[in-house]
Amino acid sequence: MKTVKARWFHSGRLSPIRLVVIHSMEWAEKPTTAEDCARMFATMGRQASAHVCVDNDSVVRCVADKDTAWAAPGANADGLQMELAGFARQTRGDWLDAYSKAMLKQAAAVAAGWARLYKIPVRKLSQAQLRAGLKGFTTHADVSDVYKRSDHHDPGAGFPWDVFLDLVREAMAGEDDGDDEVAIPEWKRPLTWPPTTKGDDVKVWQRQMRKRGWKLDVDGWYSQADEDICKAFQREKGLPATGNVDRPTWEAAWTAPIT
Ligand SMILES: [Zn+2]
Repeated sequence: MKTVKARWFHSGRLSPIRLVVIHSMEWAEKPTTAEDCARMFATMGRQASAHVCVDNDSVVRCVADKDTAWAAPGANADGLQMELAGFARQTRGDWLDAYSKAMLKQAAAVAAGWARLYKIPVRKLSQAQLRAGLKGFTTHADVSDVYKRSDHHDPGAGFPWDVFLDLVREAMAGEDDGDDEVAIPEWKRPLTWPPTTKGDDVKVWQRQMRKRGWKLDVDGWYSQADEDICKAFQREKGLPATGNVDRPTWEAAWTAPIT
């Protein structure tokens, strides 16, 4: 993701993040629209900004999540603002042409990350839900109607919420698969001390434990230090602290949460 820092924003936030607010830029669909919009946010005198600008082939970051963008008064303090290439007058068909579909995919990938990170449900809030302070996705139009502090009505009635939210869910599922499919190497034998055990499987275990943050040498020798680490790990994971890398201990090295 490219970064072009916006000129106008607040450092920090007054409220925890709860909303993803969708905007249309009111700019023509071009491969450089995100870059052009970001450049405008970086240079213009009018006090406005968004967290990201999205076109069909890129996302440009303008304001960090932890900071407050100035895009939708009423939902700035707790919103993540996303500017999409296109116009509020677009029909559903316009939003689903080849350019817009590619753009929605880029946007969905970012939104999926936000939904996961800030535990934002993948749903379009009604105005009543927005007013009630629920977490979810909304539009500049709904923010204008509910908080009456701006008159913008983007991204317009044609915006294909069903398609967009499906793309967000798809992007989140993709991330899920990556998390869930832990490939556990084959466990061959307990690694015990004494006597010193030596071998490639020792190395595999040492490398994995190192990845988890344990300070041991990846040398293929199961040393006293390795045994101590093994015992500490077993205690942490509620396994019998035998110092032997038995099958549950081996598997936990790949599957147990890293604490
Ligand atoms: Zn807007």
